Amino acid sequence: SILANQIAAGEVIERPSSIVKELVENALDAHSHRIDVVVTEAGLGSIRVIDDGDGIARSDVPMAFKRHATSKIESARDLFRVQTMGFRGEALPSIASVADVIMTTATKGQEGTAYHIRGGVEKSLKPAIARQGTDILVTELFYNTPARLKYLKSPKTELSHLVDIVNRLALANPDVAISFTHDGREMFRSAGNGRLQQVIAAIDGVNVGRGMIPVQGENPDFRISGYISRPELTRAQRSHITLTINHRYVRSYALTKAIIAGYQSKLMVGRFPLAVINIDLDPVLVDVNVHPAKREVRLSKEDQLASLLEQAVYHSLANQNL
Ligand code: ADP
Ligand code: MG
Repeated sequence: SILANQIAAGEVIERPSSIVKELVENALDAHSHRIDVVVTEAGLGSIRVIDDGDGIARSDVPMAFKRHATSKIESARDLFRVQTMGFRGEALPSIASVADVIMTTATKGQEGTAYHIRGGVEKSLKPAIARQGTDILVTELFYNTPARLKYLKSPKTELSHLVDIVNRLALANPDVAISFTHDGREMFRSAGNGRLQQVIAAIDGVNVGRGMIPVQGENPDFRISGYISRPELTRAQRSHITLTINHRYVRSYALTKAIIAGYQSKLMVGRFPLAVINIDLDPVLVDVNVHPAKREVRLSKEDQLASLLEQAVYHSLANQNL
């Protein structure tokens, strides 16, 4: 029902950046090589995500907006076993229940489809001229849920959430070209050539990108790879750490703490790193918090991983004679 979708929207869609996260993850799931995010008025004007992925066949389009109809996963355990990032088919129905949505999509070699849904009510489904991929336009966000609209922060704050999520998605997926344009101004673009250092440079500047130190480590359960900033290039008084597990952006208090501990135990000063670190692991070791919007993960061998991370960071700095 529309109400159930609106309630789910309350969980999944907190703000414009949550929409961007869900739409970009869908584009990633659809094997896109290029994803363009175009936003006006910090998301309150419009949010558009254009990809060159698989597209959706016309007969599947209405289904994609039905709750749980197209779940890519069977249970939370499967979340990491499968390579996709979707969470239980909630995003599109949730977004469509609190906004006006026009999706134009085409699969390879097929005629395209334009679909309009507003406040959870289907308005039209028509043939359209489109190249392969999906173009989704979200306007009038929260027009029918004024309480949620009121909860949004200033445009400046919402914009900083948008920039942050696009940056993290780009860091987690260096082989996909991702761009972000706000009110006609391009604010970010990654090349999609697989080079993480270049993505870091696009976000934090060329010097930081060049000055990142590789971090490597492994044991039979985990393989760590990524970059951490040289101490002299660390810009903030607090850390800025992007952690991905099997290239999926997550949050972990324990693992973040381990990275900072490794950094500080080598440098013995109160400095905080900029870091982008991926951990490859067997999905059976992951136990995810089931909340769809939160990214906090718990791992069955978290203590071992934390000490592996701490040592990997320590050694990467020690190898540079820092
Ligand atoms: P989930 O990602 O958990 O499956 P969503 O509500 O996010 O749920 O998406 C519903 C379905 O719509 C997806 O499973 C996928 O089949 C389809 N879909 C959504 N966005 C795209 C896209 N950009 N490209 C191709 N298919 C998409
Ligand atoms: Mg999804």
